[in-house]
Amino acid sequence: MAAASILLETTARPPLPLLAAVLGLGGLLLADALRPGPGDAGAPASGPSAVRPSGAASAGSRPEVPPPDLAARRAARERLITLGGSTYLDSLFLVSDSAVRRWGDGDDPIRYAFDGGHPEGWHPAYADEVREAIGRWAPAPRRLAEVPDTGAADVVVSWVPQFAFRRAGQTDLFWDSRGAIYRARVILALRSEHGQPLPREARVAVAMHEIGHVMGLPHSADSVDAMYEATRVDAPSARDRRTLRLLYDLPLGLLREPRR
Ligand SMILES: [Zn+2]
Repeated sequence: MAAASILLETTARPPLPLLAAVLGLGGLLLADALRPGPGDAGAPASGPSAVRPSGAASAGSRPEVPPPDLAARRAARERLITLGGSTYLDSLFLVSDSAVRRWGDGDDPIRYAFDGGHPEGWHPAYADEVREAIGRWAPAPRRLAEVPDTGAADVVVSWVPQFAFRRAGQTDLFWDSRGAIYRARVILALRSEHGQPLPREARVAVAMHEIGHVMGLPHSADSVDAMYEATRVDAPSARDRRTLRLLYDLPLGLLREPRR
């Protein structure tokens, strides 16, 4: 199957200075790091450098995304001009080469399942937290529905004790040549990279953020959004929801004029 896979937050990044300039991230370029709240002791508020796992990414070739027809592309660009300023979709186009990347249209739910192998210290309540995180996005343009079998799932959620670097969650996305996401893998940590158990509200916030990535959302540069890299919010913001709606209102594929 002609497909591209990407570790969303560690490959296919534009050069960091460019990303920082566009997103206004300054020194905070940690992928899905967890920003400690005032009550959390011991962890730095921001790390000194971007961190990336070695060898974890399956860097596929850039997908050849066919453009939608000219009229649709023009209409989409007009929508972007009208509404784009109140969203953060530009952050997606920066890494996707101006391609709209999301699940395809349809009424079927996106099926998700929990991986059966759990690290020590895992508790069934953690699965409930993910369900809760999914619920906080509702109503979303595409519904997510739990299935018992990972073999029948489009999205598989698993846990690790902790990441070896400053990260609390990770989402890998897979999409086809149209730019339609068809599979996702979410990995959530039980503890910080220092081994401290993550508090419940942090686990839910990270799960909510990763579910945003599952649906195709990019990062936001604003800390009030669930898609801020070091998120701590307990619900998607109005801007998160606007961005998600706009993403699913736009046609899949390239928005820019094809290169000659
Ligand atoms: Zn993220």
